[in-house]
Amino acid sequence: MSQINLETNLQELQGVGPTYAKRLESLGLKNVQDLLFYFPRRWDDFSNTKKISEIKIGETASVLGTVYQIAAKQTFRRRMGITEAVIMDSSGMLKAVWFNQPYISGYLKNGDKVAFSGKLEHKGQDIVFQNPVYEKFENKNNTTHTARIVPVYSQTSGVTSKWLRWQVKSVLGLADKITDFLPLGMVRRLGMLTLPEAIREIHFPQNQLKLKKAKERLSFDEMFLIQLNALQIKKENASQTAPQLKFDESLAKKFVASLSFKLTSAQRKAAWEILQDLEHAHPANRLLEGDVGSGKTVVSAMAVLMAHKSGYQSCFMAPTEILATQQFEKFSTLLGKFDIKITLLKSGAGKAKENQLAKIKKGEIALAVGTHALIQDKVSFKNLGLVVVDEQHRFGVVQRATLREKAGNKLTPHFISMTATPIPRTLALALYGDLDISLIDEMPVGRQKIVTKAIDPAHRKSAYEFIKDEIKKGRQCFVVCPYIKNDESITEKKAVETEFEKLSKKIFPKFKIEMLHGRMKSGQKDAIMEKFKKGKIDVLVSTSVVEVGVDIPNASVMMVEGAERFGLAQLHQLRGRVGRSTHQSYCFLFSQEGGFKTMARLKALVSSNDGFGLAEQDLQIRGPGEVYGTRQHGIPDLKMASLTDVALIKKARGQAEEILAQDPDLKKYPRLWDELERFNRVRHLE
Ligand code: ADP
Ligand code: MG
Repeated sequence: MSQINLETNLQELQGVGPTYAKRLESLGLKNVQDLLFYFPRRWDDFSNTKKISEIKIGETASVLGTVYQIAAKQTFRRRMGITEAVIMDSSGMLKAVWFNQPYISGYLKNGDKVAFSGKLEHKGQDIVFQNPVYEKFENKNNTTHTARIVPVYSQTSGVTSKWLRWQVKSVLGLADKITDFLPLGMVRRLGMLTLPEAIREIHFPQNQLKLKKAKERLSFDEMFLIQLNALQIKKENASQTAPQLKFDESLAKKFVASLSFKLTSAQRKAAWEILQDLEHAHPANRLLEGDVGSGKTVVSAMAVLMAHKSGYQSCFMAPTEILATQQFEKFSTLLGKFDIKITLLKSGAGKAKENQLAKIKKGEIALAVGTHALIQDKVSFKNLGLVVVDEQHRFGVVQRATLREKAGNKLTPHFISMTATPIPRTLALALYGDLDISLIDEMPVGRQKIVTKAIDPAHRKSAYEFIKDEIKKGRQCFVVCPYIKNDESITEKKAVETEFEKLSKKIFPKFKIEMLHGRMKSGQKDAIMEKFKKGKIDVLVSTSVVEVGVDIPNASVMMVEGAERFGLAQLHQLRGRVGRSTHQSYCFLFSQEGGFKTMARLKALVSSNDGFGLAEQDLQIRGPGEVYGTRQHGIPDLKMASLTDVALIKKARGQAEEILAQDPDLKKYPRLWDELERFNRVRHLE
């Protein structure tokens, strides 16, 4: 056999032909090292080995013995294949049965040394091992699938967990060739396993304690790299030069006095933090978090005002054109009295757009509002000083570099990102360790609590009656569905098109109803939003495109169909579309499925109005990937670490700070440096 090492292509391993190699490649596994870093999804603990005479009914255990008898037969009544075997050890005999696995009787032969792992159960008069895992063995201390803690891998088409287990085991010895990128001193100090040890134990743990240690080490690695990376970005950011945007107190006072409402103290505090940031000669990099309706826009408007006063342009980006349009209008109102030229950049081309772009380039525009496409576009500024991004947390490093190129002044603009998705502080640290955070944790006074109800399908009619009354009072209503179209599947899907049909023809024939969804042209969508805003539509049937930010103060009812399809945080956002003025507002949740989990979630929503609390609950129930959507929020695809593990995050952060304090460029730790590079490459490829 040729020499196998970590770089060896998997195809060269025994039992891996071209077909398997392809399948493995689709899992991202090309060489031996990749295979070793393909961690189990879970483990079956079959380490409880017993003499046959000692096992108790209901116990999960392994027995080691020889096959005494084995046969396959058919049951008459149910036409099922049954394989029966008797295994014998020095203490006694035990029967094992398998259903519909006739090949076992061809594989195990009388006299074979075998191990069985499973649960001992009653079957009629007999006591048997039902469907135990079986394995022929040579050395009882070196089993693979039985009589130990057994790794279970994610199975994908054509690659079974059992097959992977066998392959991993065949190369496990090479784990010792993996170089540990953590300084040995740190590994020792933290009482962790070395990387080779951790790799061996994660696949074939000697015991539960070793397994725990292996998980600890591998989770630490991931979180440590995240933190190290974040701290480096932070440092790199701090080394950039940004324009100093002066805080003009009398202007700030004038602005506050011009508002039709009084700022909450949380808004004042956030504004203060941001305005202080902007005075520095290094770019701000701040996340402004605040629940739906907490009033983030006005805070960002103040920042725009200061930038303008110091002679710099600003740019504001929203996730959709609907929102960009709406924010443009808001800024126009808020900043109207301050002689600020604002422009709304839409997609598409044409003379008018070229004109706009030219004005931005010449510096005649103080604030450009558009979608996130704005920076990919041909836009360039004369003197950009501030970038505000609404409802998207992460802007990659690459994009930040683009911003710098567009700024037109060789400076890095200040960067503020706003979100209504509540992210608990520790999670934010794990995800966005490079950002500073401001929180608006207080709602403007006078907001009414939105009455939220999970409604039984039997009461659908009365909900419609209620909506009729609201519309007659002059209010408007949202109906949100999870789907656009109803396909041919058996279960009825709550879809915009079908609900629109039903509502406009049967339920509310006298009212004005329109629909809105992501597959419509942007001009069409804007026109509908405009009509809805002006009160020319009574009921808007839509997908969750209305989820973030849409502001229709006159709307008082949010009806959600197929509520089980939405996450808690998302439902909370949807609910935030109403109750945006003094009208008492309502949120009605309909679900097509009354499962326990769904009910628990809807109940949480009914009883709480606190976006942060709901996000925490959602995190517990569904995990960060599901809650926040992996890609959009730059959530790394972690194999081991949990983004909600506070202790781990703190430990990793502390260690990262310590090592960078001693050795800012990691000169003494070239391997760690390499690993960090690799980690970044992988993340940016996503
Ligand atoms: P969000 O934080 O969800 O983006 P907005 O900035 O859109 O919220 O503000 C929601 C609404 O509340 C807007 O109509 C805004 O004018 C209003 N608003 C903002 N701050 C206050 C306040 N302190 N008091 C009363 N209304 C406010
Ligand atoms: Mg907003």
